[in-house]
Amino acid sequence: MNILETDSNRIDEIVQSQRLFFKSGQSTEIKFRLSQLKVLKKLIKKNEIAIATALKEDLNKSFEESFLTEINIVYQEIDLHIKKLKHWSRKQSVATPWFMWPSSSYTEPMPLGNTLIIAPWNYPFQLLINPLVGAISSGCTAILKPSEYANSTAYLMDKLITEHFETNYIAVINGGIPTNTYLLNQKFDLIFFTGSTAVGKIVAQSAARFLTPTVLELGGKSPCVVDQTAQIETAARRIAWGKTINAGQTCIAPDYILVHESVQKSLIEALKHSLVKFYGEDAKQSAFYPRMIHRRAVERMDVFLKEGKIAYGGTTNANERFVEPTLLTDILPDAKVMQEEIFGPVLPILTYRTIKDALEIIEQHEKPLAFYYFGNDKSAKTLLGQVTSGGACINDTIMHIANDHLPFGGVGHSGSGKYHGYESFKTFSHFRPVVSSPTYIDLPFRYPPFKYFGWLKKLL
Ligand code: NAD
Repeated sequence: MNILETDSNRIDEIVQSQRLFFKSGQSTEIKFRLSQLKVLKKLIKKNEIAIATALKEDLNKSFEESFLTEINIVYQEIDLHIKKLKHWSRKQSVATPWFMWPSSSYTEPMPLGNTLIIAPWNYPFQLLINPLVGAISSGCTAILKPSEYANSTAYLMDKLITEHFETNYIAVINGGIPTNTYLLNQKFDLIFFTGSTAVGKIVAQSAARFLTPTVLELGGKSPCVVDQTAQIETAARRIAWGKTINAGQTCIAPDYILVHESVQKSLIEALKHSLVKFYGEDAKQSAFYPRMIHRRAVERMDVFLKEGKIAYGGTTNANERFVEPTLLTDILPDAKVMQEEIFGPVLPILTYRTIKDALEIIEQHEKPLAFYYFGNDKSAKTLLGQVTSGGACINDTIMHIANDHLPFGGVGHSGSGKYHGYESFKTFSHFRPVVSSPTYIDLPFRYPPFKYFGWLKKLL
C-alpha cells in the first residue's frame, strides 16, 4: 500500500481553514472540547480491531501488545482528560503582594492555537493520537503527520480522522520528507514532534524562523545498571520485556546493560531464561514477537551483531524483517553499537567493577531519555543523583510511561517539553497571568513625582 503525498495546495487550504476555525473560538469552548474527546474515544473503541490489524501489518504486533502499549494508553489519557478538563481549565488564583492592594491575581489557561503533531513509526497509533488528546483538551486545532513508514496505520488514521472530524479542526497530512518540509515552512503556534534527535534539530531550526514553540520527544542511549544487590531473576524478566516489546523499537527501551562483574553470568542466564519463556526457543514462530519496520533496520542490526560475542540469539532475516532477541558481550572498542541508539532487539552487556566505572561509560553519551537501575535503594539514590535522564525507573523498565500522572519527556539531546495527563494540557496551553485592579481606589505610590517614595522604600 503506497501512501500518497498530500498535495501542497491541499496543505495550504487545511492550514488556512484551521486558522479561521481557531479564530471562530469554537474549539475553545469546554463543551466542544469534551464532546470531541468523546468522539475520539468512540472512534477508537469502534475501530479497535482495525487499529490492531494495521499495527500487525506495520510491525507484526500482537493484539495483546497493541492493546497494552498503544490503544489502552490512549484510552487512559482520554478518560483522564474528560474527568479533569473542567478542573484544569479553571482560573487559578495566586497570591498578590501587599503593595498591589486591592488588586487580585490569577492565571488562566488559553489554547495555544494551531498545532502540528509529527509522529514516528514505532508506536504509530499511540504517538500520533496521545498528543492529539492534549490538543483537543486544551482547545487547539491539530494537523497530524503520521510516519510514512507505518503505512497501514497512517492510511487508517487518515480515513478515521477524516470521517469523524472536520478538517478545519483536525486533519491528517500524509507523506514523507518533502511533505514534512513543506509543513514545517508553515506557521504554527506549537509543533509537537516525536522522532529522532537528528530530525528534532531540523524541526527546531524550522520552528525558530517563526519563533514557534516546540515539544521535542526524541531518543538516545538509555542505560540499564544492574548492581550486585539486584534481585537477578526479576531484573532479567523486566529488562528482557522492556528490550523486546516492539522488537526493541521503543524510545525508552534499555539500550545497553552495565552489570556488576560479580553477577554478569547469572544475569545472562536469567535473561536467556526469560526470553525463552516469552517467545519460545524460536522467536520467529512466536505470535507475540514483532518485526522490524523495514529491511534497513535489519541491516543496521546485522552490523551491530558483528561487534561483539553473541551470548544468545543472533539470527536475522531481512526479507522477513526479523531480528532475534540477542545478547551481546565482549563488545569491541569503538563499536557502533555503543555509539548510536540501537532501536532494535540487540542488547550489549558490559560489566563494571565500581560505580565510578559505570558512570564513566554513561557519561560518554548525551543525556538519555530513560535511566534504569536494579539494586538496593541506597545505591539507587546515589546513581539517580548523578545521572540526568528524561525519566527513570528503580528496579523496573518502561513503566514510568504507563503512569499518566507522571510527566513524560526527555532532557538535553533526548528532548525538551513534557506531556501525558495534566502535562499535555499544560503543553498545549498558555497560562496567561492576569492582574485585576478595581477602580474604586487608586493608590498614588507608583506615580511620579513619587511624593511618598521615602516612606515606601522603608516598607519594601
Ligand atoms: P524520524 O525522526 O526519522 O521521523 C519522525 C518524523 O519526522 C516522521 O514523520 C518523518 O516523516 C519525519 N522526517 C524524517 N526525516 C525528516 C526530515 N529530514 N525533515 C523533515 N521531516 C522528517 O524518526 P523515526 O525513525 O520515525 O523514529 C525513531 C526515533 O524516534 C528514535 O530515535 C526514537 O528514539 C525516537 N522516538 C522518541 C519517542 C519519545 O517519546 N521520546 C518515541 C518514539 C520514538
